[in-house]
Amino acid sequence: MDNAVLPPRASKAEPMLGYPINLNPPPPGFARWRRRLRRAGIGILAYNNGGNPYAQAPVPHHTHPFERRVVARCGRLYGFPADDLWGFVSGSGTDSNLHALHLGRTWLQDRYGVAPRCYFTAEAHYSIPQLADLLGLETALVATDADGAMAPADLARRLAHDRPALVVATVGTTFRGAVDPLPAIGRILANMPHFLHVDAAAFGGYLPYTAFAHLLWQQTVNFDSLAVSCHKFFGFHSPAGLFLTRRSLFDAYLAAAGRRHRAEYLGHFPGTLSCSRDAVKPAEFLYYTTPRMQARLAADARRILGDTAWLLAELETRRPDLEPRRAHPASNVIWFRHPGETVVRRYHLACQDGHAHVVVMPHAHRGLLTRFLDDLERR
Ligand SMILES: *Cc1c(COP(=O)(O)O)cnc(C)c1O
Repeated sequence: MDNAVLPPRASKAEPMLGYPINLNPPPPGFARWRRRLRRAGIGILAYNNGGNPYAQAPVPHHTHPFERRVVARCGRLYGFPADDLWGFVSGSGTDSNLHALHLGRTWLQDRYGVAPRCYFTAEAHYSIPQLADLLGLETALVATDADGAMAPADLARRLAHDRPALVVATVGTTFRGAVDPLPAIGRILANMPHFLHVDAAAFGGYLPYTAFAHLLWQQTVNFDSLAVSCHKFFGFHSPAGLFLTRRSLFDAYLAAAGRRHRAEYLGHFPGTLSCSRDAVKPAEFLYYTTPRMQARLAADARRILGDTAWLLAELETRRPDLEPRRAHPASNVIWFRHPGETVVRRYHLACQDGHAHVVVMPHAHRGLLTRFLDDLERR
């Protein structure tokens, strides 16, 4: 093979502060786990996780037991009752959002006989309006507060009371890191037919290990489904996502979707939108749910929130003119006025509406943040 075509190795030496990607390498135990999987043929032979991971698999070469274990362990982190949990390892956060919107729409329409209207804010990830478009959903944009969180009073005003509501709340909006207020949203929706999906692609990875775990505790906040990306906080080497929902909801969805579509060829109607699914990623990601890896993730999670608070304080004293802001104490995002192209390019900062942001991921240690602050002062 021609080594010359390989891109440079991602490393801590290449400063990247603008996107929610954890560039720390996994511990050596992960490489050992991958080797064990390879020896078993997983990642070498054509394994396929097509189908519902909880049903009889159509082919013998799959990793559904690993996938179920990932779902069970992760479900616990978000407070899903073990006996009312269904999920799978999806292709990405976007893929999880797609399943959520399809599930929510199908279930609401089947149960109430009317198509829902879909509500989200302009701060939601750009995949949400695209997916609503794909599914032909009627949508309504809900206003936000100054930090970009959904304004519950505006949601209450906009709700169509003759239609079920399919609400997408974001816990960790992409640019400002805002947290939509799930308890207030839940109270507004309580007395009407609704489905509440939480897009926590970025924050969902670390929140369970912090003092803010309650923000995503399913039994308190009572959301219906959850999307988390595996390649963001966890630093998993390849795009993948978690999709979690309540088993009872999934069963009702499966019955409704199964009446409209057939998949006799698979042996069962899977309830997952792609037919073939990756068998390697669930098996590999299982490593990230082991007690040893969970301890490391917990330490990372607490450190990044501490460092985010520190970065905000430093920016406020050293560059108050940039008007730095943190939308929520659970956020690892600081956004501020555009600091000039040199710094933006050097640190790969994402920009929007005349602002830039820093996402404090586990590789963004104090040394790197200090270098960034020094560069900001040297204008
Ligand atoms: C990153 C992100 C997404 C998209 O997730 P992918 O895994 O990149 O597809 C969706 N929503 C939010 C809030 C995100 O941060």
